[in-house]
Amino acid sequence: MSPVAIIGAGITGLTAGFYLQRKGIPVTVYEAGSRVGGVIESLRSHGFLAEFGPNTILETSPRIGELIRDAGLQSRRLDPDPRASARYVVRYRRPIAMPASPLGFFTTKLFTAKAKLAVLREPFVPPRRDGKEESVAEFVVRRLNQEFLDHAIDALVAGVYAGDPHKLSVTQAFPKLGQLEERYGSLIRGQIFGARERKRRGEVAKDRAPKFSFDEGLQVLPETLREQLGQGVRLNTKVTGLRRVGGAWELRYVAGRQEGRAEHSAVIYAGTAHALAELGVEAQPPISLEAFAEIRYPPVASVVLGFRRQDVAHPCEGFGMLIPKVEGFKILGTIFSSSLFPNRAPAGHLTLTSYVGGERYPDLAGLPPDRLTQITCDDLKVLLGVSGRPIFEHTVYYPRAIPQYVVGYGRYRELMNEIETQAPGLFFAGHYRDGISLSDSIVSGCKAAERVAAWMAQARSGPPEESGLRPSGAPAKGHIR
Ligand SMILES: Cc1cc2nc3c(=O)[nH]c(=O)nc-3n(C[C@H](O)[C@H](O)[C@H](O)COP(=O)(O)OP(=O)(O)OC[C@H]3O[C@@H](n4cnc5c(N)ncnc54)[C@H](O)[C@@H]3O)c2cc1C
Repeated sequence: MSPVAIIGAGITGLTAGFYLQRKGIPVTVYEAGSRVGGVIESLRSHGFLAEFGPNTILETSPRIGELIRDAGLQSRRLDPDPRASARYVVRYRRPIAMPASPLGFFTTKLFTAKAKLAVLREPFVPPRRDGKEESVAEFVVRRLNQEFLDHAIDALVAGVYAGDPHKLSVTQAFPKLGQLEERYGSLIRGQIFGARERKRRGEVAKDRAPKFSFDEGLQVLPETLREQLGQGVRLNTKVTGLRRVGGAWELRYVAGRQEGRAEHSAVIYAGTAHALAELGVEAQPPISLEAFAEIRYPPVASVVLGFRRQDVAHPCEGFGMLIPKVEGFKILGTIFSSSLFPNRAPAGHLTLTSYVGGERYPDLAGLPPDRLTQITCDDLKVLLGVSGRPIFEHTVYYPRAIPQYVVGYGRYRELMNEIETQAPGLFFAGHYRDGISLSDSIVSGCKAAERVAAWMAQARSGPPEESGLRPSGAPAKGHIR
């Protein structure tokens, strides 16, 4: 059996490879870069631990815990300090703790009486039934009010997607919100009654899911998966094209100055959407991947700064703070990294991880590191009472950080479904298809491994017509899962 090719050694590709290998199916993981992990990047230096990409994994599905156990990483799992549960949102140019209970909501200074009334009114707002796809902003203003959009949701969208609520689609970017309205007619009612269904499915809502990392940062996970995949991972090897030959796939790649070809029984594409658009695919009927170049990934810079404890007035106890655009700061938000995980800073110090750029200020993300540090320190001075210079500073620039699930994004997902039907043995997985979070990517990798294993078993069990697989070359009809 020729191995399954996996393009991309981010968390999606490594998870898929790990589970295929455990099923006895050989894999080759091709990675264009010189390290595994994709956007996951942890750096230990001078007693600080900087996390540039994701900071935590949300345990929204039982598959996350399974992967950690299967990879033998239970003992290295690091749960956050229980005192670090508070989340702050900036209003009146200072961080205000988000209410942790319904009573807290009615007494918080985060929202005016008008916004609190809008929440009481929400269960009586009729659900939209005309099927129109709304932006997050339209949805929130219709069901709640402008203040919620400007002072809460805008900050949340910047924190999760580095995105713009006027562009993101509620059904594509926050599908659970849309489903709450569809099923229960109201977000508040859905929040209450939906909890039972989630429990039955073994799922946990994102706002309640336990989050965790590892003793030496998230990079521990991809590094461990890579070790277990052994020779199956090829770094510095960029896949440039695919060709369907008979029942197999011929893959073209460039490794340094060398070009090569390899035959694979199936291919999982676990790279980025923009790199997918650059891939040449030869198959019958012809496949075009150009449309994926339209998927926008705004630039983001991660700015990790270490301070002496006495140089920061705010206690910084909690997860971090989100900043709405209307508050007029340049940073999108800050994670109180060493409050979450105390081993992220030496004793008597703290680590703050801030993000700059996104859809809000894309031009700022590309500033040189000293300018990024300066604008971050200027904002942190006002917001957290930071004085003095950081004694640890590290920035990483992601020119294309996070895909924006904008209004109309469903057409890209439909196109992927169509191509998978047209080109048997080619599978798409990862953050550009199944949700942008790390946990979404892990679940996507697990499911990709299952889909490939099932497809291979079916393909082995008989000709496609008999096994129920559509014969290769027959015209495809798009189907939506
Ligand atoms: C700054 C930032 C902060 C984030 N914070 C969080 C967070 O706190 N929590 C959370 O849950 N999520 C967070 N995310 C999102 C999450 O980290 C990602 O969605 C997830 O890691 C994506 O994994 P992936 O494997 O799908 O893709 P990637 O990590 O992008 O990996 C894709 C890999 O494919 C390789 N590749 C592409 N094309 C080719 C080719 N032709 N040949 C060979 N290799 C190729 C790339 O080099 C890359 O290594 C964050 C993302 C960013 C950028």
